[in-house]
Amino acid sequence: MSGAQYTPGQMRYATFSLLNDPEPRLGVVQDERILDVRDAFTGKWPGGVPETLLSLIEQGPDAWHRLRDLCAEPHAGRASHALSAIRWHAPIPKPPKNVVCLGMNYVAHIKEGAAARGREARIPKAPVFFTKATTSVTGPYDDIPVDDAVTQEVDWEVELGVVMGIGGRNISTQNALRRVFGYTIINDVSARELQMQHLQFYKGKSLDAFCPMGPLVVTADEFGDPHEKRLWTRVNGVVKQDGITSDMLFRIDAIIESLSKGLTVEAGDIIATGTPDGVGFSRTPPEFLRPGDLLESEVEGIGMMRNRIVGAAVAAPVGDE
Ligand code: MG
Repeated sequence: MSGAQYTPGQMRYATFSLLNDPEPRLGVVQDERILDVRDAFTGKWPGGVPETLLSLIEQGPDAWHRLRDLCAEPHAGRASHALSAIRWHAPIPKPPKNVVCLGMNYVAHIKEGAAARGREARIPKAPVFFTKATTSVTGPYDDIPVDDAVTQEVDWEVELGVVMGIGGRNISTQNALRRVFGYTIINDVSARELQMQHLQFYKGKSLDAFCPMGPLVVTADEFGDPHEKRLWTRVNGVVKQDGITSDMLFRIDAIIESLSKGLTVEAGDIIATGTPDGVGFSRTPPEFLRPGDLLESEVEGIGMMRNRIVGAAVAAPVGDE
């Protein structure tokens, strides 16, 4: 298949719901409004309009092109909503698989972490993969509840997120980037003491709501070169991280090649590509997020997420009857 056939069509996708209907739906952001794909195109799509971004991605390039073409038609009277009138969800609110993450993918972040822990910085020779639980995914403007009894060291990590469009195994660097459907923002929120205590990243990175994602998936052809984008974290308006994706140790094509070696990558898989320096635990003194703090995560060309940290009292067990 040629590269051109993968082209996802210069679109900006979101997942949203309305006040009178909490069910998330697929939207296309156009002209400061969000187009309701189901309401706009029911009857114009053989076999039924894709109801979710994941199902659109899984249907492949023919479906991406059909939706692009429908959206390009004149749109008088088409079903759309003001951006201020919707609730935003993560673009893929319940991913079928864990979010794959890169640890230690920016050298300045490796060095700050080593310095904070009194170790010599060791630059990895291969991508450091771990994952975040699917249940940690939350919306781009949702609160992040933090229970003091679980963690007191909640830290930020803004990252460029990759959404795969075409799966495969043993994907070469040469073919990797054109298998990307689009890009989003992820904050790899991290409970540092749990990360250290459990000697593995999974638990400390997977608490509920520790993976805000969104607000958009910008298709790869609309986004442009993913290795020249700036990314920022602000806490209560103060810049904490100000990085650029050209500083990635392993670039996205190399990440996909390494991940897919002997391991099937599927359409809709999400990869968080690592965080630049400026995280909280390596500051002097260390800084962590507290209830009331406003966490802003921005990537050039995608937009900004705003998540408020809120205190969660030690709640009754859930599902422990
Ligand atoms: Mg991270």
